[in-house]
Amino acid sequence: MPAVLSNADFNTELLNFLQASPTAFHATQTMAAQLLQAGFTRLREIDSWQLVPGQRYFLTRNDSSLIAFIYGKTPLLDSGVRMLGAHTDSPCLKVKPRAELNRRGYYQLGVEVYGGALLAPWFDRDLSMAGRVSYRDLDDHILSALVDFKQPVAIVPSLAIHLDREVNNARSINPQKDIVPLLLQLPAEEAAAPDFRQILSAQLQKEHPTVKVGQLLDYEISLYDTQAPALLGLHHDFIASARLDNLLSCFIGLKSLLEANDEVSSLLICTDHEEVGSASCCGAKGPMLQQFLERLMPDVDTRVRVIEKSLMVSADNAHGLHPNFMDKHDENHGPLLNRGPVIKVNANQRYATTSETSAFFRLLADKAEVPVQTFVARTDMGCGSTIGPVVASEVGVKTIDVGVPTFGMHSIREVAGARDAWFLYRIGVELFQYRKAPVALLSLG
Ligand SMILES: [Zn+2]
Repeated sequence: MPAVLSNADFNTELLNFLQASPTAFHATQTMAAQLLQAGFTRLREIDSWQLVPGQRYFLTRNDSSLIAFIYGKTPLLDSGVRMLGAHTDSPCLKVKPRAELNRRGYYQLGVEVYGGALLAPWFDRDLSMAGRVSYRDLDDHILSALVDFKQPVAIVPSLAIHLDREVNNARSINPQKDIVPLLLQLPAEEAAAPDFRQILSAQLQKEHPTVKVGQLLDYEISLYDTQAPALLGLHHDFIASARLDNLLSCFIGLKSLLEANDEVSSLLICTDHEEVGSASCCGAKGPMLQQFLERLMPDVDTRVRVIEKSLMVSADNAHGLHPNFMDKHDENHGPLLNRGPVIKVNANQRYATTSETSAFFRLLADKAEVPVQTFVARTDMGCGSTIGPVVASEVGVKTIDVGVPTFGMHSIREVAGARDAWFLYRIGVELFQYRKAPVALLSLG
């Protein structure tokens, strides 16, 4: 079992993880590699399983969602399962199926907006592309692989202020028209636009030289900012990066799980498609977790009893109180960066937190000697949501929604405190080492 990481080491590894994970596919691949290295056995959902107490397992679905599980030696009915959930996806621009555009010799790619992206920060960035490609090999098998161009290969240039004098007062962004990235200038205005699939095929061959590509059939490619994640501020108080929502929580979950012993059962679930509602075969609204629990505990009576003793910590970032926009928070519930993870509460069940689950979380924070804060949205404003209420309603597990406070959620460059992710990681370590069942059988005793 590795030692609990220092704040500095944790942040260094977090920045590396963010850099290595430009898409949900890459995040899943990066986590899978670390789990394999830590001795976890890869399960395939297509196989029959013989799960053995004391062993460690993981599986992926759609290459973009992951469950990792430590099957504790203590009987499940005694210990319950301590679970931590996060999501692998982030808002971004995704390349359309017939993307190629030639406009006066400028080669551009049509894009869709994935999730609730803040669009303004996408202008004037050095963008690259990454994702999954599916191809036919020479024997007509359909196979998939990940690609990552890594280099800056595209940009969405701003319109000069001279051509729109009102831009600083009244700017709106048309996602069909205004954010089409530019990749290339063709030799002549009337030249044919290069086939994007051929560009991807060449990239696939470059990254995977042994692969025999018959034909590149389709792709899920998104654009991302090549600016590296960084510690920032005069005293390095902040972390700035793309995809802090929610790869930061995936990384916290992963690192916490890697500290866990095999006495009690622990589970990490990181799912795709949260930013678009989680309804997919591999999303939190899909059956992935439920099916895993059914295969772990085929007997319904046992399964329901174990779930009753279990608890899910759903980790997703929270809105920190922004010093330029103080009135956007309730006066008593504006979480500060570097003052600890946030317990998220919403009377209308946009967050799944209950007094019982938040009490347990506070107990863990106390043991980890970590401060906690609370967030509730202004009563006159709407409230976001996350996988917590989804998992709670699909599986029936008691759940708490928590997260690290950040600025600029869904921007191409979000900001978090340099201490909060580490704080939440320490609580995650406590969660996965907690010996008793998280929820007592007779909670009203
Ligand atoms: Zn999120």
